[in-house]
Amino acid sequence: MKDFDYVRPAADADAIQAGQATGARFIAGGTLLVDLLRLDVERPDSLVDLNALPHAAIDVDANHLRIGTLVKNSDLAEHPEVIASFPALSQALLSGASPQIRNMATLGGNLLQRTRCSYFRDIAVEACNKRKPGSGCAAIGGYSRMHAVLGGSDHCIAVNPSDMCVALLALDATVQIRGPRSERTLALADFHTLPGARPDVESALKAGEIVTGVTLAKSKLAKRSAYLKVRDRASFAFSLASAAVALELDGTRVRDARVALGGVATKPWRCPEVEQALLGKPATSESFKAAAEQAMRNAKTTADNRFKVELARRVIARALELVGEQA
Ligand code: SF4
Repeated sequence: MKDFDYVRPAADADAIQAGQATGARFIAGGTLLVDLLRLDVERPDSLVDLNALPHAAIDVDANHLRIGTLVKNSDLAEHPEVIASFPALSQALLSGASPQIRNMATLGGNLLQRTRCSYFRDIAVEACNKRKPGSGCAAIGGYSRMHAVLGGSDHCIAVNPSDMCVALLALDATVQIRGPRSERTLALADFHTLPGARPDVESALKAGEIVTGVTLAKSKLAKRSAYLKVRDRASFAFSLASAAVALELDGTRVRDARVALGGVATKPWRCPEVEQALLGKPATSESFKAAAEQAMRNAKTTADNRFKVELARRVIARALELVGEQA
């Protein structure tokens, strides 16, 4: 591991200034970055520790939930308002990692979680455009069972591994960002970027900007939401395919719907075609299966990962059944 400087600012302005230095990296829970430091994948000149900043609260009012960027995944998952009003978020968080990691991992770190592509994490592999821009992609033409079937490019097909972000996407979350000159708010749908020709760029954050929090609006739709994840083993495993869904019913028919996928795409993946197909339909297994068929039409598969297409459709249909069955 390379030596680095360490600072722990107590004010946003100081953190933002320190974060603009060449070779600086922000750290909070450290559950991913410390791994990558040990693997020599990340070689920062300085670490800017955000843990002294005043962004560790969960605030609730009549209409909204605001989550500070330093809130721990376990605290968020177990918050009574999250369980009651945004069940998909609680379920997604509890499906991720292990209790020990959830006790350390933060909202902001989870938002910026990096891929688990094994070629990315192994510096003995030369070709990885995400780790070393312009070097190629060992996964394309290599072993790609865990890789993306949606949102990939000729330069990278790495999956975004977050469960939490899939739920936040389905729940129409917004992200608050503070930078050197201003603050801004971004829909979560616009926060993560597709790899295109620059897989090393993973979010819309600019140099020095920090995430200060995420806001969710309470709604009937969010209250009737769920997260379903399919993986190789029952815990501490990344998703093969997962779905966050939400339904608002008008009697027995679907008035409004949200569907997002994880484990299959290069960023948390919204499925507007499935949502459209559900509108006005009876909330039945048949309707859910028919709507789920609309997903994955643009999937680009390899021999290793083509199973994800059918798996994702089934996960969507089953997740919709789970929320459809709720009283
Ligand atoms: Fe690197 Fe992306 Fe290719 Fe994995 S899929 S080797 S992260 S460029």
